[in-house]
Amino acid sequence: MASKRLPEWIRKKMQYNRSFMATDEIINSHGIQTICTNAKCPNKGECWSRGTATVLIMGNICTRNCPFCAVGHGKPEPLDMSEPERVAKMVKEMGITYLVITSVDRDDLLDGGASQFRDVMDACRNMNDDIRFEILTPDFKGSQAKSLEILSSALPFVFSHNIETVSRLYPTARPGGVYERTLRLLNLASIRYPNTPIKSSIMLGLGETEAEVIEVLEDLHEAGCTRVAMGQYLKPDRDSLEVKEYVTPEKFEWWEKTAREIGFDWVMSSPFTRSSYHADA
Ligand code: SF4
Repeated sequence: MASKRLPEWIRKKMQYNRSFMATDEIINSHGIQTICTNAKCPNKGECWSRGTATVLIMGNICTRNCPFCAVGHGKPEPLDMSEPERVAKMVKEMGITYLVITSVDRDDLLDGGASQFRDVMDACRNMNDDIRFEILTPDFKGSQAKSLEILSSALPFVFSHNIETVSRLYPTARPGGVYERTLRLLNLASIRYPNTPIKSSIMLGLGETEAEVIEVLEDLHEAGCTRVAMGQYLKPDRDSLEVKEYVTPEKFEWWEKTAREIGFDWVMSSPFTRSSYHADA
């Protein structure tokens, strides 16, 4: 088990400055959920102070229960049809030009929530010129082809779905997910959207080996991913999975080099990298 004392490269001060407060106020005034808050992201101070945030659509109750994630789980609320317009207004007020949209898993919906992603993008485009999107979707379980078809009317966007960890750790870290299903979604997206960047993210520090991570990178690349983000897993709640290792910043640099050698053309790798961290870089 990792030592309780955090290495100095993991300590990060939260920034509560005026621009952070302004972001907070706008988000709350439109009743928008963010993954920044719901997942207890350590970058919230930095990102919100820069006037950016990642929108969490379709509520904050997930139909899965991954023990690395702080988002609540259970029976979700019905979809809120006012959400697309509320997000669009928030985007306008914040002056966002690159919006990352993610969601909880909605296994209760026939399309996994694809049409809500599409509607949010449509509403944002109606109200905001020149907006660009990155969508970080669920795995769309039994509706992958149909969900991708629904989303295709909202192109262009960066398509992202996180593999999160190595295949061996799926039963522990992502019990509702299937490693091959994630690869299949990324592969289907790369075929259906040939000119679209396809992205995924991996958390390190859950007990994976170097060889296993290389295998994930190779699998992602083979599936058609061109972008990858790699960051340190941090335990968000008392009951969440333990951190098994704090990977050094030097090792993250090595991972960046390794991922580029494997063939990724966009790589972000550092302890605080998250899939939406500096996504517009
Ligand atoms: S890295 Fe992403 S989730 Fe974290 S605060 Fe920044 S925008 Fe939000």
